[in-house]
Amino acid sequence: MYSTIVVGAGVAGTVIARELTKKDEKVLIIEKKNHIGGNCFDARDEHGVLIHPYGPHIFHTNSEVVRTYLNEFTDWRDFHHEVVANVHGKYMPVPFNLHTLKEAFPEEADALKEKLTAAYGMGNKVPILDLMNHEDPDLQKIGKFVYDNIYVYYTMKQWGKKPEEIDPAVTARVPVNVSYDNGYFADKYQGLPKEGFTPMFDAMLNHPNITVELNTEAKDVLKLERGRKYFRGEEFDGKVIFTGPLDEFFDCKYGRLPYRTLRFDFEYYDKADFQDGHSVVNYTVSEDFTRITEYKWLTGQDCEGTTISKEYPFAYTGAEGEIPYYSIANPENEALYQKYKADVEEYKDFYLLGRLAEYKYYNIDVMVEKALDLSAKIS
Ligand code: UDP
Repeated sequence: MYSTIVVGAGVAGTVIARELTKKDEKVLIIEKKNHIGGNCFDARDEHGVLIHPYGPHIFHTNSEVVRTYLNEFTDWRDFHHEVVANVHGKYMPVPFNLHTLKEAFPEEADALKEKLTAAYGMGNKVPILDLMNHEDPDLQKIGKFVYDNIYVYYTMKQWGKKPEEIDPAVTARVPVNVSYDNGYFADKYQGLPKEGFTPMFDAMLNHPNITVELNTEAKDVLKLERGRKYFRGEEFDGKVIFTGPLDEFFDCKYGRLPYRTLRFDFEYYDKADFQDGHSVVNYTVSEDFTRITEYKWLTGQDCEGTTISKEYPFAYTGAEGEIPYYSIANPENEALYQKYKADVEEYKDFYLLGRLAEYKYYNIDVMVEKALDLSAKIS
C-alpha cells in the first residue's frame, strides 16, 4: 500500500515525504512522539503563550532554494536574531563584536579596534582560539576576555568540556565578529514561520499521499533481517528513509552514541516582560542553566504575560523522556557511528537522513537541503 516508509516527522522526514509525493509515491511516516515537527514543534502553553517546548528555533539561511521551497508552506515573520550574554549582571552582545569590545574595554576600544581590523579585516569572523593564540598581546587580551566571559563557562555547561576539547566546528558557530553587527546569524533570510513551526509542518504533511502515524516506535514495527526489510511482520520492498537515532534502532548493541541533552524549565510571569525585550540571554559566567529564552520576543506574539525557559544541559542516558539533542563529534564517536551505519548498508533502499540518523549537528536549512537532495537522488 505504501511505497515509502519514513521514520520520523521532523524536518528531514517531513520534507522528504512531501518531495516523494511529487513522484507519486505513497508515504507512511511513523513518529515516536505524539506530535509532528520534531524538535521544531511549537505550541501554546496553558497561558496561551506560543512556546518551543524543545528550545528556541530560529530559521536562517542564505539558500534561495530552501527559502523558496518553504515559502510554499508558510509566510514569515522576519526576525533578525540578536543574543546578549549576561556577564556579571551586564548585557553584552554575542557573538562578541565591536559593540561588545566597547563595553568590555571602554578606554582602549578604539585602539583595539584598529588592531583587530588590521589583523583580520573589517567584516570578517575570527575563531576565538585564533585570537587567543595571536602573537600580539592586545589581541590575545581580547581573546582571553571572550574566552573567560563568553565561552569557557557556557561551553563547560553545554558540553561538559572546555572549548579546546570540543570540535572546532561547534565553537566556530559563535566566532568573534570584526563588525558592528549584533546579529547572531549572518544569513540573508532569518525568521520564524508566521503562524509557528507546527502549522508549517502541518501544511507540508497535508497531502493525500502522506499518512502520519504518531506514537509509533520504529523498532516495534520495522525490522531488518538478513538483507530484507519487514514492516509489521510483512516483507517491505519499498524505500525506508530513517531519520531517528540509529543506535537505539539496534538496541544500542555496539554501545550508545553519546549525545548532550537538555532539560527546559518553563516559567510563566504575569507581566509584560521578563528580560528587557531580549529573546535570548546567555548566562556565560554564572548560573547552572545556559540560557533563558523569552518566547514572545522570538515569536512576536502580543500577549499580556510572558513565558520563559531555562535550559539545563546534561549527558544523555536514554532514560524515558530524554531527547538526544546534540551529537558529540570526535573520532571515537564517529567510529562507533560507522559501525551502526555499516549494518544498514547491505539493505537496499534504506536511507539515513538527518541530525540523528547521520549523527551530525545540522541547522534547519541544511536539513531541508539534504532532504531535497536525497529525494532527487533516489526517485
Ligand atoms: N557558545 C558559548 N557562549 C555563548 C554562545 C555559544 O560558549 O554565549 C559556544 C558553546 O560551546 C555552544 C557553541 O558556542 O555550544 C554553539 O552555540 P550555538 O548558539 O550555535 O548553539 P545552539 O543554539 O545550537 O545550542
